[in-house]
Amino acid sequence: MTAAHVLAVEENLAATGTDPDRGLSLSDARARLADDGPNELPSPEGRGVLARIASQFNHPLIYILLASAAATGLLGAVVDASVILGVVVVNAVIGFLQEGRAERALDALAAAGRTEATAVRDGVATRIASADLVRGDLVLLDEGDQVPADLRLLSTRELRVDESALTGESQPAAKDTRDLPVDTEPADRTNMAHAGTLVSSGGGRGLVVATASATEIGRVHHLVSTTRPVDTPLTRKLARFSGILTVVILALAAVGAVVGTLRGQPFTDVVTAAVALAVGAIPEGLPAAVTVTLAIGVARMARRQAVIRHLPAVETLGSTTVICTDKTGTLTANAMTVTTVVAGGRRFAVTGAGYGPDSDPLPDDTALRACLLAGLACNDARVELSDGRWSPVGDPTEAALAVSAGKTGLTARDVPPREDTLPFSSDRRYMATLHKHADGTHTVYLKGSVERLAGFAADPHAAQELLDAADRLAREGLRVLATGSVDLPAGDCELTEALFAGRVTLLGVQGMHDPPRPAAIAAVADCRAAGVRVKMITGDHPATASAVATSFGLDPAAVTGRDLRDLTPERLREVAERTSVFARVSPEQKLALVGALQEQGHVVAMTGDGVNDAPALRRADIGVAMGRGGTEVARQAADMVLADDDFASIAAAVEEGRSVFDNLRKFIAWTLPTNLAEGLVILAATLVGTTLPILPVQILWINMTTAVALGLTLAFEPREPKIMTRPPLPPALPLLTKALVSRILLVSALLLGGTFAVFSWRLAAGVPVEQARTVAVNLFVAAQIAYLFNCRSPDRPRVFAGMRQNLWLPLGIAVTIALQMAFTYAPWMNSLFKTAPIGWSEWAAIAGIAGVCWVLIELDKRWRAHRRSLSTPERESTP
Ligand code: ADP
Ligand code: MG
Repeated sequence: MTAAHVLAVEENLAATGTDPDRGLSLSDARARLADDGPNELPSPEGRGVLARIASQFNHPLIYILLASAAATGLLGAVVDASVILGVVVVNAVIGFLQEGRAERALDALAAAGRTEATAVRDGVATRIASADLVRGDLVLLDEGDQVPADLRLLSTRELRVDESALTGESQPAAKDTRDLPVDTEPADRTNMAHAGTLVSSGGGRGLVVATASATEIGRVHHLVSTTRPVDTPLTRKLARFSGILTVVILALAAVGAVVGTLRGQPFTDVVTAAVALAVGAIPEGLPAAVTVTLAIGVARMARRQAVIRHLPAVETLGSTTVICTDKTGTLTANAMTVTTVVAGGRRFAVTGAGYGPDSDPLPDDTALRACLLAGLACNDARVELSDGRWSPVGDPTEAALAVSAGKTGLTARDVPPREDTLPFSSDRRYMATLHKHADGTHTVYLKGSVERLAGFAADPHAAQELLDAADRLAREGLRVLATGSVDLPAGDCELTEALFAGRVTLLGVQGMHDPPRPAAIAAVADCRAAGVRVKMITGDHPATASAVATSFGLDPAAVTGRDLRDLTPERLREVAERTSVFARVSPEQKLALVGALQEQGHVVAMTGDGVNDAPALRRADIGVAMGRGGTEVARQAADMVLADDDFASIAAAVEEGRSVFDNLRKFIAWTLPTNLAEGLVILAATLVGTTLPILPVQILWINMTTAVALGLTLAFEPREPKIMTRPPLPPALPLLTKALVSRILLVSALLLGGTFAVFSWRLAAGVPVEQARTVAVNLFVAAQIAYLFNCRSPDRPRVFAGMRQNLWLPLGIAVTIALQMAFTYAPWMNSLFKTAPIGWSEWAAIAGIAGVCWVLIELDKRWRAHRRSLSTPERESTP
């Protein structure tokens, strides 16, 4: 078979059996999809269950545990050995389940990242999933699209494609439709657009010649890694931290072993004590808790319409200090209705709501009709009636112009055939179309920002009038578009700026209403209460931007792109910090603003939708792309995609990001002191040389049951009610804050003291040592449960509040209590763990001491919160 880039367009069409205008028929497409399979690269093989289980044992700590189990087993301590093995198995099972959970969350992300394409089938252009494309499909390409399959180009207009995904070349390559020699390398095939590359400008039409693994990218795509490690700054920090901790603990265990040996203890006891110390003190649950907490955060954010593409974003969101947001569609509903037209020096009110055609009749006015006709001609959108509702197809701004034209009775038939298009881009801020009349003459229609069109005007006086009229409309909060036209004599012409610059007749301006999103208004207020500044960055008119800003309670003083242009870096930082509304801003200026804010120490979330926004999205700490309105290029550059384009979803993600951090810190605050105390009990007894209040095998039991049943439940805690009333977390917050260190010391001292106290109290009362130890173990566990409640909130008592949103918590406690009952009263447990039943007075003492621990820690929390409020002056809620 001859390659597609060699064959002429017609030959290619014949080879795939495609009609050049109508595309494939729906039934053909369906049949081919069934034959050839979906247009998807095979996803990396998920690791097999066995491999995943095996990987759970591949960890230095586990080697230590296995070695200890072997050693104790060989020394004849079968019970100890099996308990250690039990620890290993339980850890592996938990790790396995959690990893599965995290992987599912990440799979969901991958699914959300699937792309769409525009295909012509049966003569109708429709959006379909890229996976459904088949050989022979006609595909329309537009700026910002990802090329969905290997395409032989049939027609192009200024098409440039970024092929870096395929060739590594970052300069966009120009494309055309000319046939090429056989030996042309894929990188030089200018008449092809390859799957996975991105349309950086222009557009075109192509024929699918290869899909899925038959594409160029499918051929070079080696599935490098089969695992998807959960790797974020925080997990790396934690990994380093637990590494250091492990070494320290092993050293302590060695010290204990040496001292024990010098004391003349039997070798078996020394080994098991050292093992128990190590196993008890190492916070094995920590990495798992991080993974689970992050995965839960991702899932919660997705439920609130914020889809995370890069996991580290989950953490960064909690520290966000500035959100730079688009106006149209994000703060406002992007539901445009033209309400006012100024044409021929007169102002016309247009009635009607939404995209429906109904309105009071408009006067029959030539200037009005000319203004509206330009808006209809220079337009790629239309409206559609479905389920009794009129909705826009294409850009809502353009749909609104089609509707206003319809209200004077204009239809597509009034528009002469279009020959060429300069598409709208947020850089260019206008759109132009070239139309040919029956007599061979041409008209260029333009629409766009009033400043741009005024700049092209033939008559400077008319330009000034139009600017003034637009200004008045903009002050009313309307989005303003100017229209213009140029009539050209018969003859060839090419649609470039040179064709119409300085020759445009201005026809008027249309003002459209775009209501604010109610949820976004509330979300902006929430953000500000949370110490997160909201800045509106828009390509729109400053007066429109100010008017919208006012309805969001933002400081309406607008700075324009022109004002920004000549600022020194220092002034730019100042202005970026101070201003809430930026209007007529270009994508490059967005990038500069992100940089300026970051230099001021801000953690910046920035929205964007166009191709040119990609650098700013990458530069921002959180790049936010639009799921509905945005381009594929923007989505690929972003850390987070908003499924509903709503500002409220960014605020929701910030809230969830804070909650992720909270829960991690809760878990760390719980696990470190309890682990430390577990190790200390053994170490203290060895060093002092007293009878062990808790045997090594019992420490292993505690560690095995509570780390999972109690600690991990904190990962599922609902967010703090006042999470959005406190300032953002400093991004460089160390893992071990001073407050946390003193908390760790306090809690381990309480656990240690309480354990030794009840133990010696019972021994002094003359009960057997087994019974005294059982009391000590139960006290230890009870205090861990009490402390779990302390950890539910960082600064307030929280006992039952929010329990219904986290049923894991009562469940975990119930399981722990049931296990302790068995541990205390089941005869086989008694012989296995050398325990003995205990009585009511002992339970009462246990409950009492655990309760006292809870109260003491609450007092400590209260005291610390009090001191904090004294040392840091109340944050003013600045606008
Ligand atoms: P934003 O999304 O921040 O509101 P845009 O970049 O979409 O800003 O629009 C900036 C300006 O470009 C608008 O004020 C309008 O004048 C003009 N404009 C917007 N959409 C179109 C379009 N489809 N065709 C021509 N001009 C447009
Ligand atoms: Mg826009």
